Amino acid sequence: MIPTGRPCSFPDAISKTTDVNHQVSKALIDRGGENTLFVVEDLSNVRKATERVRKKDRYVSVSWSFYQLRSMIEYKAALNLSKVIAVDPAYTSQACPMCGHTEKGNRNKKTHTFCCNSCRYTSNDDRIGAMNLQAKGIEYLAEMAVSA
Ligand SMILES: [Zn+2]
Repeated sequence: MIPTGRPCSFPDAISKTTDVNHQVSKALIDRGGENTLFVVEDLSNVRKATERVRKKDRYVSVSWSFYQLRSMIEYKAALNLSKVIAVDPAYTSQACPMCGHTEKGNRNKKTHTFCCNSCRYTSNDDRIGAMNLQAKGIEYLAEMAVSA
């Protein structure tokens, strides 16, 4: 006999986040295909960035969902002959991917823009972050090739 009564379930917000994380990780793995290197920011120190947020519980859900997404990507990547590396997120949105000039003032958080104070390269700040992560992934692969 199957026991009756309320089934065990996560609170709504948690199960919704979990669903989204499943979809996002699956889409990333499907899109990358086999033998793909995924570069993610190591957000174990995300607390520092969100500490000043008024709602005290917010930091918990934010860091928890990032951690879950990363775990899902790692799990699915391993099944698909791919790999995930986590890199230090420091300066990923402050460093210019063109000339390397790094300063806080390169990025305007309010307008989500990046304008290098040295070479004037301009783009969306998230795109800059992605370009810098890609560069770190290429560096990683180059190091692997040297040590292999
Ligand atoms: Zn520059």
